[in-house]
Amino acid sequence: MDNSIQIPLDLPDVRVLEVSKTEERSWLIRVESTLKGTSCRKCGKKLTHFHGFDQPIRLRHLPVFEQPVYVELKPKRYQCSHCKGKPTTTQRLSWHELRSPNTKPYEKWLLRLGVNSTVVDVANKLSISEEIVTGVFDRWIRNKVNWERFQRIEILGIDIDRFHVSRAYRHCADLVRRQELKLLKKKLSKKEYGSIKGAMWAFRKSPEQFTDSEWELLQRLFTYSPKMKEAYILREELTEIFERLYDPKGAKCAIRAWCKRVRSCQISQFESFLKTIETWLEPIANYFLERLTSSFVEGFNNRVKVLKRRCYGIFDVERLFQRLTLDIHGYERFAFN
Ligand SMILES: [Zn+2]
Repeated sequence: MDNSIQIPLDLPDVRVLEVSKTEERSWLIRVESTLKGTSCRKCGKKLTHFHGFDQPIRLRHLPVFEQPVYVELKPKRYQCSHCKGKPTTTQRLSWHELRSPNTKPYEKWLLRLGVNSTVVDVANKLSISEEIVTGVFDRWIRNKVNWERFQRIEILGIDIDRFHVSRAYRHCADLVRRQELKLLKKKLSKKEYGSIKGAMWAFRKSPEQFTDSEWELLQRLFTYSPKMKEAYILREELTEIFERLYDPKGAKCAIRAWCKRVRSCQISQFESFLKTIETWLEPIANYFLERLTSSFVEGFNNRVKVLKRRCYGIFDVERLFQRLTLDIHGYERFAFN
């Protein structure tokens, strides 16, 4: 008895020319477009004058019985006789996004695998590179947040901004600490430098976490480096602002005043953070809106927490939003149909 079956390819507007097995034991399906003509990329008019085929493109498609499948197509090119210079336009097919190395059904499948997962995990499961996975995410999910779309941004803002912001300004203070310690190592005698040993750990703590000896250590350090003292105070000041129960207006005021202090200190390491603050001041200020306790918010914040733990490599808000969108809407938006 024959041990093979026939399966429809299920990609519209193409005819299968040939199916073969590659050396890597993948299926290679060569197809050609059955569509005639396209629209001119310049004037938009319907083109029917066939100009020739492009180089073949090989696209990753859904696997069959766990074996990788590639679809190979020579895109058709058409010429416009209305436009100056008679430009040509490549015909596009509904199941392929320009410049993507995959078919759309493959990308939707990948996106479903990405729900509640990580880039590394998806890449490993599919034996593809992480770049390909992030490429698919970027093609399908916006990572720019349109804040105007959210009327109640305070709900979405809570954990993300706090997380993003505190990481960013603590990093600035750390840069100061590193550079200053380097300078001190050159400037101070061995004995003096020895007397501030362990300062790095103390510097990271907030005042209420100090032991007495750490407190003394930090005071010694600050007499050697007033710049580190400034950076430390700035860092702790901002943390305090975030702990306080401001309304968004008050928060904005406090943050702006803090930015002013940073500028007057002229610590260049905070420069990039000041720019971040400018961009995100609105959503950051909304963080302060009363900390809502509805079950939605708790559920949402929980998702954010889990996502953060799962993808500890995601440091920027934009990626975080992209991944949240995928976790929350992924199954419905990229459903199998
Ligand atoms: Zn044209």
